[in-house]
Amino acid sequence: MSRRLAAAALALLCAGCSDIGSPSRADIYEWRSAQGGDTLSFHWPQSFLPVRIWAEDQHGLPAYADSSIAAWKPAFLYHEWDAVRVADSSEADVIVRYGSPPAGDDILLERFALDGRAPECQATTLPHVDDAREVHLPMHVYITARFAPDLPATQACLALTLTHEIGHTLGIFAHSSHPEDIMYGDPMVPKPSERDRNTAEVLYHTPANVSPAPRP
Ligand SMILES: [Zn+2]
Repeated sequence: MSRRLAAAALALLCAGCSDIGSPSRADIYEWRSAQGGDTLSFHWPQSFLPVRIWAEDQHGLPAYADSSIAAWKPAFLYHEWDAVRVADSSEADVIVRYGSPPAGDDILLERFALDGRAPECQATTLPHVDDAREVHLPMHVYITARFAPDLPATQACLALTLTHEIGHTLGIFAHSSHPEDIMYGDPMVPKPSERDRNTAEVLYHTPANVSPAPRP
């Protein structure tokens, strides 16, 4: 092979390998949350991995938490994010409960809420970001059925909506404008799309300005 051909081959190789450390930014959506002039960008540091998720034993939520974790893992080619389900809520970084967020306290004043609202169910993730730009742990996810929870359509909704909420907890603090993405505000698809996965991967390769508070 001539030197020129070798150089051309190397250039082609590099075109393919340049993405190894920094995933494609070609097809992603805005994942950061704009809050009062601030743009919040969060992801879990390696030292917190695996993120510990606890799900209340109601209407299949533990199994759906497992499938949500499994659905997001392939987005992270180099294990930039990982999570496990834990049996003890006191050890959790993320707590998933069946029901609505508690009313009457200062949650909605102090925190911003990330909603997902499909026809059969709805959910809210409440990352409490303080003035020091720390997310208080545990994060809370509330998910509830709008119809009988054990109907097949409602169960499918709980499954995909929990995957959407786990997407919020890993750092996607906004919604996609594409209905084919799991992070669309009214999620309809069962699992993350390629664009969701690209967004999650790029997010973990972008410096964060919000970090988790120390574990209690
Ligand atoms: Zn949402």
